[in-house]
Amino acid sequence: MSETLGNAANPATIDRTSLFEFDLDSLSQEVVAMGLPRRTGGQLLKWVYEKGVTDFERMTDLSKDARAQIAARFSTLQGSVVRHQVASDDTQKLLIEWADLGPDAGAEAKPAGSALRLAGTATERQTETVLIPTEDRRTACVSSQVGCPVGCKFCASGIGGLDGNLTAGRIVEQVWRLGRLEGVGRVSNVVFMGMGEPLANFNNVTQAIRILNAEWGLGIGARKITVSTVGLPPAIRKLCTFDIPVTLALSLHAPFDELRRKIIPWAEYSTIDELLDACQEWFVKTGREITLEYILLGGVNDRREHAEELARLARSMRANVNLIRYNEVEGVPFARPTSGDVHAFQEVLRAKHVNVHIRASRGRDIAAACGQLRHEARH
Ligand code: SF4
Repeated sequence: MSETLGNAANPATIDRTSLFEFDLDSLSQEVVAMGLPRRTGGQLLKWVYEKGVTDFERMTDLSKDARAQIAARFSTLQGSVVRHQVASDDTQKLLIEWADLGPDAGAEAKPAGSALRLAGTATERQTETVLIPTEDRRTACVSSQVGCPVGCKFCASGIGGLDGNLTAGRIVEQVWRLGRLEGVGRVSNVVFMGMGEPLANFNNVTQAIRILNAEWGLGIGARKITVSTVGLPPAIRKLCTFDIPVTLALSLHAPFDELRRKIIPWAEYSTIDELLDACQEWFVKTGREITLEYILLGGVNDRREHAEELARLARSMRANVNLIRYNEVEGVPFARPTSGDVHAFQEVLRAKHVNVHIRASRGRDIAAACGQLRHEARH
């Protein structure tokens, strides 16, 4: 494992709206309102996304006056990388500290229960983001919120509750930063599996997806963007009508309601049947299959009866299943199942003709694996 520090935002720019917040249309309208030519919007986005330039002074196809006007109205990077770790398997993790919690911190978060601290201490304004390289892809695992309101019992991200939502620009900034790391190159896939429940920050997440997917943005294919949720039926239904055909993953983690409520506190707000109804609507309206994410907790949800019921549910909704072997979190009382138990569980599903994979744990030595992200610099 090695560590380096990355580039920081200029704190003086935080009061201005980040260019990462804008799509081409809205930015073009903004610059026209400032008395600049409409094409300036496209020029700015080209500098940021195509050339990787965030210093307005270096945007030399704009006049000096235009650059001064733009610098007075907009910022670019709004976070500072306070820790950069590289794991033995080349997974990289950035701990990013935001200068504040953003203009709409926590606005859509629900249900009530997590106290929001709009100013926040330094650690309450930090999120982690991870780059997972494989032979044929470079996947960014991004955070959608600061902390998490859901509080899954196996996960470090929810331990301190929710501190706020990330704006669209701050979600995009995570992917931009990962793509600018030395030797990484273009990010090919994005998964909303970092800190936070993305569907509880719906507007910011969908605006970020628009920018990630656009040709003038980061150009990441819609199917290569995965939104992973513990399941909010109304938000899943809303996502069915979103015009960008993303991939949806549902974190099921237990096939029985009673057990699911013990693992995922928000399971008390909707039953598995209600989730399946919303997922069925997703399948009918979008024609796209759902992936069920299932974290195996030793002795808790990894028995034969769980596998059989999971297979029944997956078949009823034509879903694929991803099995994730629990990764240890300090102070969390679950056991990592043995490799033999995980394969036995997989075999039960396979025998019932379910398309099932075991997801490899990446970045475990820098606590970058599933469920290990948190908003504190740990040493
Ligand atoms: S697993 Fe996801 S939804 Fe659950 S607490 Fe962690 S970040 Fe939140």
